Amino acid sequence: MTIKNKSQRSLPLAPIREGMLFPHNEVVYSFGRSQSIQAIDKAFSRNRLIFLVGQRKPTIIHPSQVDLYQIGVVARVENIIRGERDMSVFTKGLYRAKISRWQSADSISEVEIVPLEEKIVQDGETLALMKFLLEKFKQILKLGKQIDVMVSMRLMSTTDPSEFADNLAFFLNINFKERQNLLEELNVKNRLMLLAKFISREIQITEIERQIATKAQQKMNRSMREAILRERKKTIEQELHKLGSESADESGDMAELAQKLKKAKMPKEVYLKCNKELKRMAEMPSMHPERSYIRTYLEVMAELPWNKETKDQLNIKKAKKILDQDHYGLNEVKERILEYLAVMKLKNDHNKNGLASKAKNNSYKPTILCFVGPPGVGKTSVGKSIARALDRKFTRVSLGGVRDEAEIRGHRRTYVGAMPGRIIQAIRNAKTKNPVIMLDEVDKIGNDFRGDPAAALLEVLDPEQNKEFIDHYIDAPFDLSRVMFICTGNVLDTVPPALRDRLEVIRFSGYTEEEKAEIAKRYLIPKQLKNHSLTEKDVKFNPQVIRQIIRHYTREAGVRELERQIAKILRKIARRQAENKKYKRQLSLKSLYQLLGPRIYSQTLAENYNMIGMATGLAWTPTGGEILFIEVTLMPGKGNLILTGQLGDVMKESCQASLSYIRSRWQELGLKKNFFSSIDIHIHVPEGAVPKDGPSAGGAITTAIVSALTKIPVRKEVAMTGEITLRGRVLEIGGVKEKIIAAHRAGLKTIIIPKGNKKDLAKIQPSIKKDLEFKFVSHLDQALKIALTTSLPHLKSSH
Ligand code: ADP
Repeated sequence: MTIKNKSQRSLPLAPIREGMLFPHNEVVYSFGRSQSIQAIDKAFSRNRLIFLVGQRKPTIIHPSQVDLYQIGVVARVENIIRGERDMSVFTKGLYRAKISRWQSADSISEVEIVPLEEKIVQDGETLALMKFLLEKFKQILKLGKQIDVMVSMRLMSTTDPSEFADNLAFFLNINFKERQNLLEELNVKNRLMLLAKFISREIQITEIERQIATKAQQKMNRSMREAILRERKKTIEQELHKLGSESADESGDMAELAQKLKKAKMPKEVYLKCNKELKRMAEMPSMHPERSYIRTYLEVMAELPWNKETKDQLNIKKAKKILDQDHYGLNEVKERILEYLAVMKLKNDHNKNGLASKAKNNSYKPTILCFVGPPGVGKTSVGKSIARALDRKFTRVSLGGVRDEAEIRGHRRTYVGAMPGRIIQAIRNAKTKNPVIMLDEVDKIGNDFRGDPAAALLEVLDPEQNKEFIDHYIDAPFDLSRVMFICTGNVLDTVPPALRDRLEVIRFSGYTEEEKAEIAKRYLIPKQLKNHSLTEKDVKFNPQVIRQIIRHYTREAGVRELERQIAKILRKIARRQAENKKYKRQLSLKSLYQLLGPRIYSQTLAENYNMIGMATGLAWTPTGGEILFIEVTLMPGKGNLILTGQLGDVMKESCQASLSYIRSRWQELGLKKNFFSSIDIHIHVPEGAVPKDGPSAGGAITTAIVSALTKIPVRKEVAMTGEITLRGRVLEIGGVKEKIIAAHRAGLKTIIIPKGNKKDLAKIQPSIKKDLEFKFVSHLDQALKIALTTSLPHLKSSH
């Protein structure tokens, strides 16, 4: 048979856990997993074609490539109906196909497929088989089995052997593995023979069921009902047993599951509950839809580490060694972590020595570590080191964008496609009940009508409640009190206050250029060399090259992009080696250009000249410090303030406050009384795409306006930060370290900062401090005196 219009193509993939579709069949599936829903959406928005493929084990919630069969069906999505949490999809099976290539190594979302050709011979034997099967089918109908009229009519009118086989397969009670075998059988005659075996078995079962039903009817009364059902189960099982391997497999499976549940060492009540479910499952007919849900549930229950723990190795010296081994710098962070671990150790020792009650009286309340800082500064990696130091398992849960409480606490089992929440899933992955669980992006947790996930999270973190944490899916208490939770986030402001109260915050600030260079040299390059199976002999990075990569190919507070660029270089070098092409082992600036392309970033540097109406401010963003140029121009007008450059509300208010301050001090600043009545003032902050906000640019804005009004230039090497009040006081601000690093990177020399922030300088490395001159001010007049090239005669120098 030739296949028209069925060439190799790339299609979205949806894994199927039960009830595999055949070509020529039409089925309504219910998809609940977001991965599958995305695939359907993708298919629906393209040419409606999707590749449906069976999952080897229905219990796996996030299957990877190895968990899927290779052969599946290309189907057309005819229609979809979206439910609140799932999607009903009307699909029509088109043809068999095989996966020829995965689009990416670790994703199953899209595949390339090749259609499979079937072997169809329409000889006498095939026709005889079809006739036999049709007879059997009619026999089943006579026995009173409920079958969709459309399906049976179609079956009776089909002459194409392949279509006949697929339609017959559709309604037979066969298990998933058997269905897959039928799907993979490309020789249609063989497929018909397999069907002959299945249909004979089905007739036997239907007959037995009918006999029991007739018998049962004779004595039907309430008390007899249960006995009859048991009898029915027994008879079916016996018959199945006679029929051989498959049913034996099934009861073997049940025994295995029962064994697994026993071994899971769960609390007694939970074990009894599971056993009850197991019994319920055993009594269901094998094709009952609920059966597979119960099975998944029991598998999850059996896999949970109810009583499995790793033994803590709480040795502070060892912890210090590991933290130092894995990370450069971060001294303050490491100190804080060691202190935290020391307290944890003390508490454990107290408990061991029976002093728990004493510890309780001391009202020791464990707090949860929370790492706050820009991306790529080592938060995850420090978390992993803590787990390593304690000899515990490490796993991560991402909370970014979680809006639904059920994502934390799980869905009730009555839902189609219900799953445990993310916490229990993490425990299941960790396989021990005392792992280190990193809760990423606590600052991005949302809430809406579907409940408050932050409240659920509080319960997870609260030592008084988490001993008996109830996940809706598990529906039994699980002890989370042995877990060590660490939260991470980029900022703290958006963390719900009740949650923030429970957190012991450790801040990670961005790295300086020197620190990045050291991290690259000592950690990132050796790590990536190993990942690419290269050695130091194959390629050499000198300090100058590292610096160029940092300056011109990355712009970040952490080192994630830097690590990616290093990996990119090594990938290209590994390829050249593999192809036996020549390359220079010592990287140079020229080779960087060849390997990474033209520079991506030019450094935003300080201005070359002293300018009128332009001042340099310093800003803090969740991804590190930045310098800002504030530009002010004056034009004829009526005293309006025009603001441009994506300014946030707080920054706009800051501009208003600056103007009010200047207007109230016209005399001291040497301005005319009603200077503003005939002009408009335009304030612009360039690099428009980046939104800017916060009060800390107040000083720089005022300086730029004063400079524009007085025509006195601002000194080019000066940058400033500080919030101002209407009376010109300069108030303390946050993020000083990041701002100073940014100013240093840009080549500025003098930094004006609020007096209240003097204490923050202790955190800045001497190597940076030595290049900069710091001026501490408490009033704008002092700042203006420093920033403007000529002093204003009427300004006071002290306040
Ligand atoms: P975050 O969780 O803060 O986003 P990661 O922990 O993922 O950052 O860090 C990104 C990469 O940088 C990792 O490979 C990590 O090992 C490395 N890294 C970050 N900081 C350091 C450091 N101080 N010393 C060594 N490697 C570091």
